[in-house]
Parts: sequence; C-alpha cells; structure tokens
Amino acid sequence: MSILVVGSVAFDSIKTPFGEVEDILGGSACYFSTSASFFTDVNLVAVIGDDFPQEHIDFLESRNVDLAGLQKTEGQTFRWKGRYDYDLNEAHTLETHLNVFETFKPSIPENYRDAEYVFLANIDPELQLEVLQQVNNPKLVACDTMNFWIDGKRDELIKTLAKVDILIINEAEVRQLANEPNLIRAAAIVRSFGPRTLVVKRGEYGVLMFGEGSVFSAPAYPMEEVFDPTGAGDTFAGDSSVIWRRPEILMKKPAQGDGFGSVMASFTVEKFSLDRLKEIDYQEISDRYKKIKLLTDFADID
Ligand code: AMP
Repeated sequence: MSILVVGSVAFDSIKTPFGEVEDILGGSACYFSTSASFFTDVNLVAVIGDDFPQEHIDFLESRNVDLAGLQKTEGQTFRWKGRYDYDLNEAHTLETHLNVFETFKPSIPENYRDAEYVFLANIDPELQLEVLQQVNNPKLVACDTMNFWIDGKRDELIKTLAKVDILIINEAEVRQLANEPNLIRAAAIVRSFGPRTLVVKRGEYGVLMFGEGSVFSAPAYPMEEVFDPTGAGDTFAGDSSVIWRRPEILMKKPAQGDGFGSVMASFTVEKFSLDRLKEIDYQEISDRYKKIKLLTDFADID
C-alpha cells in the first residue's frame, strides 16, 4: 500500500517558551511523510526552491519517501515563522512566505495517478484540488487545512472539501470554518460540506472524530515535556491507523480508531523540527502505543 501526499516542504522559524530556531526543516508534507513512512510507502508531491539543502533530501530518502513528485524550481523555499506562548495548543503565525508555492503547478507523476490513498496536507486548497483532478479513482481522500486558508481562500476550500472523505483540522478551525461556536453543531456543518468523517485535533486533549451519528474520542499521549508542538497535527495524520492502515474499518465503523496517531505526535513535540522522529524506531512506537491503550480501557458494565 502507498499514500500520495501533497503539502508544504518548508523552512520554519519558531519561538517557544523553551527555545528559538531559524530555518529548520518543516512543512506539513515533511511531517506527514516522515510519520507515515514508519508504516507504509509514501509518494510526495511538493515544491522546493534552489536554497533547499541536499541533507534534507537525503533524510527523506533515508525514510524511503519517494521524491519523484518533488519539484525543485528557481527561488526560495516556502517559509513559515510562528510563536507559541505557554498555551502550546495555539500557534501564532508571525510570517508566511509562499515563495515557490506562488507559481507551483503540481504535476503528478504517471505512476502516482492510480493512488488509492491521498492525503492533501495543509497547503493552498486550489493546489489540493489540482492534485485530486490528476488522480484516477482514489479509495480514500483525507485533507488538512488551517486558518490562513479558511480566511484567504474559503470558497476554493469548500470546493475541495466536496471531494474529501476525511477532514483533519483543529478545534478553532472547525468553529471558524462553520462560523458556529458550538463544536458539535460546527462539526455537523463542516461535515455537510463533504467530508463524511471529521477529525478534530485538540492539542494536548487528543482528538474527537465525528462520523454519521457517532463520535469517537482518542486521548493525546500524556507528556511531561512538550518542547515544540509544530507538526504534531501532520504527524498525527501520518499514522492514524484507522485512516491509512485499516481503511476498511473506517468504511464500516466511522467512529473507531486507535492511538497510533497520538503516539506519533507525542514524539514530534519532544524536539524541534523532525529531530525526534529521526531518532525513533518501531519498537519505541509500539512501546508507547501499549501505554496509551491503557489510558481508555473502561470496564464493561452489566
Ligand atoms: P501543524 O503544526 O501540524 O499544524 O503544521 C505545521 C507546519 O505547517 C509547519 O511546519 C509549517 O511549515 C506548515 N505551514 C504553516 N503555514 C502554512 C500554510 N499557510 N500552508 C502550508 N503549510 C503551512
């Protein structure tokens, strides 16, 4: 099985209460691909500028991410600058420089066009749609977005959502997209735009997954040290097993999931960039999975 992902490959500059870094490897597609690469083959579609160093390409290749769809063009790579205060659940965007994304026209390599699973990571919704138009008949399309696009390209986003099965966004974005403060009502409105499943990311409180007449809750892994939450959402999406590894479950029981996404996100937040994901192996992932599973093991009642 393989997943086709389109999204941002970025240089991030980030300030958290615990440290500050400039121009580190980031981007929704990088976090997603790295996370998903522990479980499946990944085909990446994105654009980088001529300032993107070989060492980052070598890293993605070392994770077996297929880079045939990664275009290198003249100009600067996408850049995002953000800040977190002590409430690490909220990212404050300071600067967004689309750079090479301004003129990017995704061209899906021939051998990616039969992709069964597609993840439209956070990126311009028009580009997300252009990618979908080049894919033949995907079984499952999941999508992420953010306030930047809800504000700036709402109509285009709604058009894209009509073709999406699963939308994965954070709580504030659900309210903003629906224009409705109550989360339950907002979820129903967002689902009426197209996605039959809505996964609501709630930072340290985990996720809520809304299906037809059902809600499923998954906790976040309890962490003593959260260093930088950037990329947690994309890492979560990279291994929400119900979505990618056992999609047939999602078809039958839309509100069932497991904790792998939360486990992957818990590694991402321990260090800046993809630094922690670079260190872990499958054993560490499954050890943490066993612990998170116990968090919600309710007893049966008569
Ligand atoms: P997350 O923390 O999972 O929501 O995603 C963080 C990543 O999103 C960062 O590494 C940024 O490079 C990337 N990002 C921030 N703003 C945008 C945007 N407007 N479009 C695409 N990617 C973005």
